Amino acid sequence: MVTTKFTPAPPATTREQRGLALYRSRGAGIIHEGRGVYSVPGRSGGSYTVNLSVFTDEPETCSCPDHARHPELTCKHLAAASIYRAKSRAKARREQHQRAASRAARASLAGLAAAL
Ligand SMILES: [Zn+2]
Repeated sequence: MVTTKFTPAPPATTREQRGLALYRSRGAGIIHEGRGVYSVPGRSGGSYTVNLSVFTDEPETCSCPDHARHPELTCKHLAAASIYRAKSRAKARREQHQRAASRAARASLAGLAAAL
């Protein structure tokens, strides 16, 4: 009787998943340099420059070795910077809505006060 040993493959982690993990662990260290360019912390203490190319049609770039080897793929730094940007924009929109709501409330109160 022949038996084959089944060795399960190690859990697959995609670059996107590693980017999410990087955002969760080091997201506070991401710096927005401006115009879609971010400084994203690396694992070894340094940081990589990510350009999300949000204002151009150029492809996204990252200064890490993984992106140099596979420029066609989204490295974890690109993924982390994309998450950071989406979260920052959502936060800015929320704050804008809150400011608009409190302005509307003040205007409404002013209207009520004028009617007294
Ligand atoms: Zn990278």
